[in-house]
This record gives sequence, structure tokens and C-alpha cells, in this order.
Amino acid sequence: MSMQNSNHMIELNHPELWREQCLYAGKWRASSNGETIAVTNPASGAVLAQVPKLSSSDLEQALSAAHKGFNYWRGLIAVERAAKLRRWFELMQEHKEDLARIMTAEQGKPIAESRGEIDYAASYIEWFAEEAKRGYGEMIPAAKSGQHLLVRPEPIGVSVAITPWNFPAAMITRKAAAALAAGCSMVVKPASMTPLSALALAYLAQQAGIDESVLSVVTGDSATVGKAFTESRLVKKLSFTGSTEVGRKLMAQCAPNLQKLSLELGGNAPFIVFDDADVTLAVKGAIAAKFRNTGQTCVCPNRFLVQAGIHDKFVAALKQAMSELKIGDGFDESVKQTSLINAAAVDKVKRHYHDALAKGAECVLGDAPGSLPHNRVAPILLLGVTDQMQLWQEETFGPVAPIMKFSTEAEGVELANATPFGLAAYFYSQNIDRSWRVGEALESGMVGINEGGISNAMAPFGGVNQSGFGREGGRQGMQEYQQLKYLCYGRAGSE
Ligand code: NAP
Repeated sequence: MSMQNSNHMIELNHPELWREQCLYAGKWRASSNGETIAVTNPASGAVLAQVPKLSSSDLEQALSAAHKGFNYWRGLIAVERAAKLRRWFELMQEHKEDLARIMTAEQGKPIAESRGEIDYAASYIEWFAEEAKRGYGEMIPAAKSGQHLLVRPEPIGVSVAITPWNFPAAMITRKAAAALAAGCSMVVKPASMTPLSALALAYLAQQAGIDESVLSVVTGDSATVGKAFTESRLVKKLSFTGSTEVGRKLMAQCAPNLQKLSLELGGNAPFIVFDDADVTLAVKGAIAAKFRNTGQTCVCPNRFLVQAGIHDKFVAALKQAMSELKIGDGFDESVKQTSLINAAAVDKVKRHYHDALAKGAECVLGDAPGSLPHNRVAPILLLGVTDQMQLWQEETFGPVAPIMKFSTEAEGVELANATPFGLAAYFYSQNIDRSWRVGEALESGMVGINEGGISNAMAPFGGVNQSGFGREGGRQGMQEYQQLKYLCYGRAGSE
């Protein structure tokens, strides 16, 4: 069956995955006041769907149902929760093609990348289904004769998530699966530009036997939802992925109720190529890390630092690889670069590009941003970049590779660390001693060494400094939704 708009017919094998209502308080609902938000295709601007703009009282209802859901869900034994999560994972796999099509329609990324994101998103559910069974506590040697000291991790309570548009499925599963594995209920607010993937995931969770009050998805005006989440005393944990600016705001809003927080914020990743790097590998890593999602990822290299001895060779090989990236519509299987999320995103690239040129950078590949239709920007390679340029200081979030030349290892590391952000960093070197040294010296939550694809469900994902705090994935991911209770048992009788 085909859904909606004329420019981008969305053929789905299972049309019931296309949801234009929210799932909360036990069922699929519209907003009580009938208000909606339009979801558009970033390439064509065509309206794909209308989703509810929930009111404050709708949101209160969702949170109070989630509180009941928490009391039910925490009472299940871990293997029961694990089995339901496992089923959710299997359903995502079964419906991968439909989920990928929904994602490309609303977010624009190439269809092969959408399939990849569904696999990646589902892998978090599989991982946390397994971790649910491993919520171990601790026995501590007694301080006094007859005592028994025990530490027990307990689910923290109703948890809420606010997620961005760049990974419409994975940013949800890596929070929700961890929360549910720990025994918490969760209410998710997806980005308003990409709610359809989230709603489809909620439908599959429901099919997997996860109670509607245990996992809900609500859509609406961000300030209204943020206020409802942070002002509610039922909410014990807020996990946010998005910009540093909004993260700061939410942290302040959480202060009165002191909700536990995880903040996965913006980055400004360095990508260092040392003289002793393998150029072929470095270019492969650069293309994978920089141009995935058309440069719209939080871990994407924003600053290329290339040592003088390898600079020209690396630049020539990178330019060649970038010129081979085909630009076009996300549903075209051969396309690698698609539309940016909206016109504002193109404007930011444009601003960074013109600022860099005005301050002396040289453009050796790519057209001026804004010259292509459908919010597309051809990959841009800039040389002679300096730290005075805007694109060196803030995330560009687009397909621009700015290159700065440096001389010594110490200079390269110092330049890489000269940012208030610290999410991901990458470097290429075949020298083992340098690899240890630089890996330890970089101020970043994650470091890729001769590797451009660092993110997976088994490892803790997260940043330092203004990139936030908290970890997703790995054995640490579930701990974000737990609190520790220390039990001190004394003697039960005097004999
Ligand atoms: P954003 O503007 O901060 O939005 C993220 C989410 O926050 C959206 O759901 C948005 O809702 C919501 N929001 C906005 N203002 C809010 C408010 N006042 N109160 C409550 N919620 C609010 O970020 P974005 O543009 O979607 O995403 C791009 C940013 O995310 C980049 O900085 C990127 O680096 C970062 N990111 C970080 C990670 C990580 O793991 N560290 C991963 C992916 C992306 P609406 O959509 O309704 O406006």
C-alpha cells in the first residue's frame, strides 16, 4: 500500500506501521484539542503526515499512566522483561524495510543508511535484552560481626527521553531499551521533524507485548513537553540527546526537582592524520565518519588536522573520494549524499563556508552551498583553514571537510583539544607508541584510532565537557536508569 504524498509515495508492506497518533495512557490517541504538527519530506517539502500536538493535560495523563506502568513493569522478573525486549528486537528486524522507508521519507538519509540505522537501533534492544538479566548487585564484607551489607541496583522510576532528528530510531532505542531493561517505564518525545519512525517503533513495542503504559511516545511543542517533563515530580530521570544549548536549558529546568540527567550533546570532533598514517585507510575512515547522514552526525569530524608531511597526499586522495559521492534523492539506491534536514541547515553551511572564504580558506571541491535545489549541498573541501573561522569553532552539521595543516604531534593534539566540546575524536597513525600517547591525551569521551566507525551497542557512547555526560550502550547504559540502595542487615535476635 502507498501512503500519503504524491512526490514521494511511501510503499509499505505493513501500512499499520504508519501512525499519526501518539501511544500513551493505554492507547493510540490524538491531541485532546485536535491540534497537530505537520511532518514534511526534507527533499521535496511535501507534507507526509500530521502528528498530535499534545496539550499539557495530555502530557500529565501520559506521565501518570507511565507511573502506573512503572509499578507493573518493575514487578516483572528480569527474564520476563528480557523476553519482551527480545521480541521487540525481532519485530524491528522483520519490518526493517518498512522502517527504513519511513525514515528516509521523513529524514532524507540514503535508504541504505536507513536500513543500517534500523540494524544499529535494533542492536541496542538486543543488547539490553541481554543486559536486563545482568543487573548485579554487590555483597560487602561486614563492618561488625553479624552484619550483612548488600548493595542493590533498583530501577530509578519513570524516565523520559527527548531525542533529535538525525538518528530517528537509534537515539530512541538506546535510551528506551536501557530504561526498560532496568525496570523503568519511559515516555519518549521524538524530534518534531522525525516522529514517524518513533511512532512505528512504539507500535512494534506494543506488538511485542510491552505494555502501552511502559513505553509511550508523545509528540508536541518542545517547550510544552520539556516543561511537563521537568516539572513533574513523577519523573525521576531525563535523558536528552540534542544541542548543547537545549541541554543546558533542560538541566536548569531539572534543578528544582533534581531529576537524574543524561545529556548527549553536540560535538566538534577532530580527525588527525599523522605523517605515519596509512592514507588509504585514513581516507576511508574520513569518508565514513564525515559523510554519513550527509555530515549530520554528532560524532562527525568537524575539524581535519593533517600533518605537513602527508598533507598533499591525503588531500588529493580525499578530494578524489569526495568527488565520487553521488548526490540525489534518498530513495535512489546509488545515492550517498542527500538533502540536509531543512533550509536552516543549508543556511548554516552557507554561513560557515562564506566566513571561511572571507578569512582566507581555499575551496578545492564543491559548489557554494545554496546553489543546488532540494536543500542539497555538494561535498565541500576547504584548505588553509584556521581556528579563527566559525566552522572550526562550532558544528557545521553538513558535508564540509575543513583542513588545517600542522607540524608536530604536540601541536596536533593541542589544536584537537582546543574546544569546549569532547564527544568523539579520531586519529590515524601506524606508530604504536604514538597511538597510546595520543589516545590518552585527547580530551574526548570516545576516540577512534585508525577507525572511522566507533559506535556500537557494546561500547559506552557519550561525551565529556560541553558534550554532556552519561553513557549509552555498553554495560554502563543500564546504570543510567538505576539507583543504588545499600541495605545493612544487623542481627535479627540477640542470641
Ligand atoms: P535540538 O534542537 O537540541 O533538538 C533536540 C530535541 O530537543 C528535539 O526533540 C527538540 O524538539 C527538543 N527541544 C528543543 N527545544 C526544547 C526545549 N526548550 N525543551 C525541551 N525540548 C526541546 O537538536 P537537533 O537540532 O534536533 O539535533 C542536532 C544536535 O544534536 C546537534 O548538536 C548534535 O550534535 C546533537 N546530537 C548529539 C548526539 C549525542 O549522542 N551526543 C547524537 C545526535 C545528535 P523539536 O524537534 O520539537 O524542536
